[in-house]
Amino acid sequence: MKHKYRDRLLPWLLAAALVCPPVQAQPAGLPGLGDGESISLSAERQLGDRIARELYRDPDYIEDPVLDEYIQLLWAPLVRAAAARGELSAELQERFAWRILLGRDRSVNAFALPGGYLGVHLGLIAVVGSHDELASVLAHELSHVSQRHIARGMSEQSRMTPWLVGAMILGALAASKSPQSAQALIVGGQAAALQSQLSYSRDMEREADRVGYGILVDAGYDPRGFVGMFGKLQQAAGLNDNGAFPYLRSHPLTSERIADMQARQQLNTPAAVPVADMAQALMSGRARVLSQNTPDALKAWTLEAEQPSPQDGPAQRAGKLYAVTLAHLQQRNMLAAEQSLQKLQELVKKSVPTDSKVTQALASPVALSVDRWLRLLSAEVAMKQDRFEAALQQLLPGGAVPDLARPELMAAAQAVQRLPGHALQAEITRQLRQRVFVAPHDAQAWNLLAGLLAAQGQALAGLRAEAEAQVARLDWEGALDRFRAAQDLAKRSRLQAGEHIEASIVDTRLREVQAQLRALQQPSTGPR
Ligand SMILES: [Zn+2]
Repeated sequence: MKHKYRDRLLPWLLAAALVCPPVQAQPAGLPGLGDGESISLSAERQLGDRIARELYRDPDYIEDPVLDEYIQLLWAPLVRAAAARGELSAELQERFAWRILLGRDRSVNAFALPGGYLGVHLGLIAVVGSHDELASVLAHELSHVSQRHIARGMSEQSRMTPWLVGAMILGALAASKSPQSAQALIVGGQAAALQSQLSYSRDMEREADRVGYGILVDAGYDPRGFVGMFGKLQQAAGLNDNGAFPYLRSHPLTSERIADMQARQQLNTPAAVPVADMAQALMSGRARVLSQNTPDALKAWTLEAEQPSPQDGPAQRAGKLYAVTLAHLQQRNMLAAEQSLQKLQELVKKSVPTDSKVTQALASPVALSVDRWLRLLSAEVAMKQDRFEAALQQLLPGGAVPDLARPELMAAAQAVQRLPGHALQAEITRQLRQRVFVAPHDAQAWNLLAGLLAAQGQALAGLRAEAEAQVARLDWEGALDRFRAAQDLAKRSRLQAGEHIEASIVDTRLREVQAQLRALQQPSTGPR
């Protein structure tokens, strides 16, 4: 059913995520990178920042607190395991960005960028069958970063400038999703000649498999996810070799790699019986609808849920009901959304064991999120109907205000912002401040904080939060603009108690951002 729509919207991609043209001549005035030596961590991070700031501006970049949390839940144990295995030095952990950007694109892709940035397309989340499979892709990508494959690849291209590498990676990424664009035509036309310039070598792929597999096992995932994922990708690519699986272009699979993985798996037979992966099914439903929300696609999700396949287990049926609830919501069919939400709640209640002690002992943090994600979906339904108080009751059951998880905090902030003078405004503001203190790169939290501060008459602090949101998205010009607006406001208004500190923070941050911009405008970033 869903493939019908895929066919019509194809063809997908022409080039791999990390492909780069041969450089015949060194452009004048731009120094080479490292001259054969591996590039430094800070040079790689700077290159990653350049690429990431373009991705943040891409209309396909999506901030979705629920999917972001899901990826983080899978990612955090992998990072801990990698560090414990000695694959991630403290320096690498500190110097790299370690940010995962979600792309709305429905092609099946994940990629590691220079400097510890990673990209995950919603198409990948939509297509995997279990959270172990998704974790296996993340483990593989994490290993490309931890083994510094990008730096090693780049040092072989010693005549290539970081500027050019950044431009080429962006070109290849653009080509990987929109074949109509001019960039795609350029990259596509040269694709044959360009292959392998910056893509990973076969040895690097095997190393990322080996290291990634070890990390996956140590992090507590079912290692069958690794084989399952790559088997699925290969099978799908064989059935459908139209470029919908760019992942395979950038990480070519050989039968040798698959045999290696199967051999590893036999050494490591897991004791656990795989349970139906309800969590992954729900998130797959979310990713499907957020990546394809044309009226035709939304209609297709609705039909799919109305005519369930007899082979569907509870997880698949729940995933379809989740998708159809969201699809109705996007079409503003409120009654239909409420009806499918109710069916979904009943189904989950029936299929998830109710003995919470048993569940807690067996289940991963991911499985334990299922109930929360249903409440978050209920809150989304309420918000779409402007029932903000009802949304808050879903988000804060029992009325108490603990330290909210990020998706709940984001949603509650949106709700209280629409309820002037609400008793919870101060508490939610406090929690958002806490959030940006521990995670200053959380642009969405800064934006929500800005809105709440403005709503509470704290204009100066609100402007600074807006500026910090731009900093978090690496948009230095945008940040400068907001910091200047804050400075102007501080000059022309009589500052309240406490605002003098805020004003001096604004001055300091303005100077820091100006320095950042100057550094960025200098073409040389590589060590000589
Ligand atoms: Zn790879």
